[in-house]
Amino acid sequence: MSRYCRQFMLKPESYNKLKASYSMLFKTAADVFEQISNTSKRTEITKALADLFAQADSDLKSLVYFVQGKLAPDYEGIESGLSDKSIIKVFSSISGRSEQDITGLFHKVGDLGVVAEEIMTEKLQKSLLSTQLTVGDLHAKLLEIAESSGSGSNRNKTGLLESILLDASPNESKYICRILTGKLRLGASDITILNALSQAFSYEDSDEVENAYNFHPDIGFIAELLKSKDIRKIKEIGPEPGIPIKVMLAERLPDIAQIMEKMGDEVAFEYKYDGIRSQIHKMGEKVIIYSRGTENQTEQFPDIVKAVKETFRGRNCILDGEAVPVNPETGEIYPFQAVSQRRGRKYNLDATIQEIPLVVFLFDILYLDGRSMVKLPYMERRKTLEELFEENQGIKRATQLVSGDQNKLALFFEQAIQDGCEGIVAKNVTEKSVYRAGARGWLWIKMKRDYKSELADTLDLVVVGAFAGHGRRKGAYGALLMASYNSDMDRFETVCKLGTGFNDDVLFGLPKMLLPFTSKEKPNSVESKIKADFWFNPSLVMEISGAEITLSPVHTCAMGLFRPDSGIAIRFPRFTGRFRQDKNAFDCTSTTEIIEMYQSQAKKTAPS
Ligand code: ATP
Repeated sequence: MSRYCRQFMLKPESYNKLKASYSMLFKTAADVFEQISNTSKRTEITKALADLFAQADSDLKSLVYFVQGKLAPDYEGIESGLSDKSIIKVFSSISGRSEQDITGLFHKVGDLGVVAEEIMTEKLQKSLLSTQLTVGDLHAKLLEIAESSGSGSNRNKTGLLESILLDASPNESKYICRILTGKLRLGASDITILNALSQAFSYEDSDEVENAYNFHPDIGFIAELLKSKDIRKIKEIGPEPGIPIKVMLAERLPDIAQIMEKMGDEVAFEYKYDGIRSQIHKMGEKVIIYSRGTENQTEQFPDIVKAVKETFRGRNCILDGEAVPVNPETGEIYPFQAVSQRRGRKYNLDATIQEIPLVVFLFDILYLDGRSMVKLPYMERRKTLEELFEENQGIKRATQLVSGDQNKLALFFEQAIQDGCEGIVAKNVTEKSVYRAGARGWLWIKMKRDYKSELADTLDLVVVGAFAGHGRRKGAYGALLMASYNSDMDRFETVCKLGTGFNDDVLFGLPKMLLPFTSKEKPNSVESKIKADFWFNPSLVMEISGAEITLSPVHTCAMGLFRPDSGIAIRFPRFTGRFRQDKNAFDCTSTTEIIEMYQSQAKKTAPS
């Protein structure tokens, strides 16, 4: 008997009748997805989603994951485990068309969802007892696909998918395949989904909802809280061991004078380590390490897990820090390239741990033995961190100086560079200096080495388009169209064409890297005045340096803000060689940050 039968004490027949009235058909959701993908207006998207959420009952949780294009929150690491090739096999079995033929179609359109729609329109088979899919049942079946593991699991997964698709219409199939491959791309960010949830359940304070999500980044959980109108819980949500918190981020400024102007008479400078952001959760003997993007990366770092267990024996805590490779003999920090040899590695770990041991430099504590620390000022959190443990080979505290003396701070900055760091992170030391989950604000300001005439910092921009290469670059791209993210408008705005800094591996590897993100036309989420030869759904984030930021009539970043009909653009952009795989499109450099960089550049160059 299903969980619902037990819950409502019903006979299965009555339960089926009742269930029909409680469950949302997936068709209803897929129709709204179709409607949304035809608009670029955020208000329309929010309204359509709010109406949809308001109709959902027991299926709400499943529905909001679907809208995110997921089966579960990122930190649970649940993926279908089905390759494009296996999905194409299923299409072939359903339609009778050859795999080769379908693969050709896939390469042409670049979207398995569109392929599924076409295949289903002409499908030969039909399920004997065709039933209408509900959102909840579909979710359960997709989870079953994801959870199937071990020998024979691929056959099991493809069999399950085939049975689902046989019950689905062409439009439903399109969205099922997009969800399954993690490429739904409705153009609705998490913030838009949260706003739609607030609207659907008449919760007025959208900042509170966003804050709750930053401490508990599970959209299904937040949806249920809003639906149950548990206002106290929404207001009081805080850190909980085992649930990753969206990390606090820093603004940027190019010099100490501007930092002091923002932060007041006294500041704390900390070394800015260039490694892997590590949010460490310790619960009894269990340790989990989450990445900058809230993914569970524990398996990659058994050395850190061991050091944490030994250092914080008997404690339950959440710590924030940066893991950096350090030469075990000299204590010197290795350059960033060594970090990439550790990131993502799961095999032959023992040898790599010996060769590239990591040290975690802790700079914050968010929770200790049942008590949330996030509302305490920075200096109190730092004091707790200092009293909590003795530094050892694997775990240290970020080197820090608290001062109001600009000369001392300048010397500290130089020392940070000499010691192999990227620069410093300045931290506000006043009473208001709480830990702001998920926010980039002026409580933390980063300052990196000044490249004189170059921009003082690199930018992480997302690829939205490309131009065909000619001559030596034939078959590759001549340049990429890069964008920043405007969170107010929920749009990606173009900011430069990037054509330099590529070695041959990158240059000729880019078409393959970008293939999964291909879009037949300009995605609705992209604002561009330039017509690219190829369009991409914003996904791949690349680090670039540049000479300066200038006004530009062709780029849409900050359009009309400084001059009518002009946006701003990066001059002489150059790829640094670093793909930011730890960032998704929404984490790329924001339009607001580029505006601030432009303003502080103007301040720096203005005659005094
Ligand atoms: P960047 O591209 O400059 O590395 P980011 O976009 O990844 O930055 P930012 O918030 O802009 O993130 O820069 C702060 C990052 O610096 C943090 O995410 C963290 O990983 C790292 N970091 C290193 N040392 C510190 C420190 N002492 N305090 C805070 N963050 C630190």
